[in-house]
Amino acid sequence: MAYDFDLLVLGGGSGGSACAKRAAGYGKKVALIERGPSRDANGVRQGAGYGGTCVNVGCVPKKLMYLAAQQRENMVGDVALAEGFGYTVPQKAGDIDWAVMKARRDAYVAKLNTTYSTSWQKLGITVIEGVASFVDANTVSIALNSGGTQKLTAKYVLVAVGGKPKIPDVPGAELGVSSDGFFDIAKQPKKAAVFGAGYIAVELAAILHALGTETHLFFRGETVLRRGFDPFIVETLMSEMASHGPVLHKNSTPSRVKKSKDGTLTVEVRSGSETVELSGCDCVLFAIGRESVAKAVKLENAGVVTDKNGLIVVDEYERTSSPSVLAIGDCTNTGYELTPVAIAAGRRLADRLFGGEPRARISYEQIATVVFSHPPIGTVGLTEPEAKKEFGEENISVKQARFPSMMYAFNSDKAKVKTGLKLVLAGPEERVVGLHSIGPCCDEMLQGFAVAVRMGATRADFEASVAIHPTIAEEFVTFG
Ligand code: NDP
Repeated sequence: MAYDFDLLVLGGGSGGSACAKRAAGYGKKVALIERGPSRDANGVRQGAGYGGTCVNVGCVPKKLMYLAAQQRENMVGDVALAEGFGYTVPQKAGDIDWAVMKARRDAYVAKLNTTYSTSWQKLGITVIEGVASFVDANTVSIALNSGGTQKLTAKYVLVAVGGKPKIPDVPGAELGVSSDGFFDIAKQPKKAAVFGAGYIAVELAAILHALGTETHLFFRGETVLRRGFDPFIVETLMSEMASHGPVLHKNSTPSRVKKSKDGTLTVEVRSGSETVELSGCDCVLFAIGRESVAKAVKLENAGVVTDKNGLIVVDEYERTSSPSVLAIGDCTNTGYELTPVAIAAGRRLADRLFGGEPRARISYEQIATVVFSHPPIGTVGLTEPEAKKEFGEENISVKQARFPSMMYAFNSDKAKVKTGLKLVLAGPEERVVGLHSIGPCCDEMLQGFAVAVRMGATRADFEASVAIHPTIAEEFVTFG
């Protein structure tokens, strides 16, 4: 049967774009359907925009704010650090002009949107703005942003529509914002209540706190990052946050948000059998996880199966239950909501479908990840509990150290930010199956170590690479 296109990609985020470009590079006829930066009548975002979550309401604007927060810390937050080195720190310096920062950040994002669109054009990809839904497994109907509908057929359809933030089902939740709304905030909040315990809550609370907002982080358990992180890292983070902020509220679940007469918000929180309130907030941020938006594309018309959370069930080759429909990224059940994962999956998929590489696929083992917390976390491979489960307790050993780096040589203990480094080693050969780090520079440090871990390095290999002194990372190769 003759199709309109070789590949129809639903979603112009990191994964969809990567796959579309790679396929077009193979000379295939590709169309990409993208909602565009649309908003509803109330100004609420409907589509993230060209480049998806990462570019518009995720990694990119977050990292710019993280860097802005670091600058403030360098200037006024880390007064003790600067004074330790002999500086006199001006008392009033360092308040950010939020509007300027936001305008520059938004302009940076807009430039990236253009870069995406230009790269699609250059590769001859047909870009259609609208909302797609399946008619059948090879046919998609598009409600065009410009009005009307269009039907297209393709040999393969890739669903890469991503996800959206979850909002808790509590009265007044609409008075708060999600991470999407966070990037629309026009004025620096004076007092923020952040709910959640994952990457986003931890990162955005740290950024707000470092920017000088009075920030309260509420989470349901005893700690944040309860899943997927080594207990040593979580302990270190909790202790650093307790020393340096934000204000931590454990065992706390949101139950209501109320608007006061003065326009500020009061959050009501259940903590055990008690209900407590925090008033005077001008920002309530929910970061309690994300959910797939794939349902909107009428997967049932294509025979595509989802799990109980609405995530598209895929195998290791990104195949769904429908032979002509593939899926990648945050709308799938692969368990990794990470931009580089979606990009790698998209490229490998195009290599497999169109590049003559029938076995090409992303490997989901040992994916490195960074949390831009304060201090940042870098981790790859198994946590100690995971490694013990996989290899048996008797086959696992660990090397770990917690120390303040030389940066704090002239500071009191209270002012010091600790670094925590840990290796999880398997078997008599001491293969590094997990590498975990928290502390200054751990975000930048991880990538190189991740290569070594993926290549199967042992502790002896680590130690054979002579230390770079004095650095924080050298501890990894000098555990002894
Ligand atoms: P996560 O799924 O990572 O964490 C959300 C957490 O919120 C849950 O684990 C849960 O923790 C808590 N929670 C869930 N429901 C509620 C509730 N009703 N009330 C209060 N707390 C609740 O979601 P995020 O939104 O933080 O991030 C989504 C994904 O985006 C991440 O998994 C990550 O893959 C990706 N991301 C990656 C980044 C990076 O690479 N640096 C940065 C940001 C996001 P608990 O059970 O402990 O309460």
